[in-house]
Amino acid sequence: MERTFVMVKPDGVQRGLVAKVINSFEQKGCKLVALKMMKIDRELAEKHYGEHKGKPFFTPLVDYIISGPVVAMVLEGKDVITAARNVMGATNPLQAAIGTIRGDYGMDIGRNVVHGSDSPASAQREINLFFLPEEITEWSRTLETWIFE
Ligand code: UDP
Repeated sequence: MERTFVMVKPDGVQRGLVAKVINSFEQKGCKLVALKMMKIDRELAEKHYGEHKGKPFFTPLVDYIISGPVVAMVLEGKDVITAARNVMGATNPLQAAIGTIRGDYGMDIGRNVVHGSDSPASAQREINLFFLPEEITEWSRTLETWIFE
């Protein structure tokens, strides 16, 4: 079973989309194993988005992500990284398909509502940045065999 890091960004929280975003992942079949609201400080934001350091959108991106509370979560499931990215849609909400979170709720690449890890290595890194091991709850879902063959 794979894990991924997902977060409702400050615009999603301010716009009251937390429950809708979580619901999109739950209804897809992703299993929630950690969840918290938090404020990200500049140091954590710069670490989280370290791969974008030096790009023109880096400072506005960091300012945006620390501008208000976020809701961070860990999701579990077979191929959950890909599944969650599909639920989110393309990075730019204008290119994201209708039916995806970004396609349904976004208008601007700099306000795209949700983050999700893009690879197993970044998922591992981001889960460790945002969660202590004891904040992740292992539980067995009785529905599992109706979601995964
Ligand atoms: N971003 C931006 N302008 C850009 C590219 C990216 O504001 O031209 C922001 C956007 O919020 C995006 C984040 O930077 O979600 C990280 O970019 P990445 O390419 O990693 O996209 P993601 O993995 O979030 O889809």
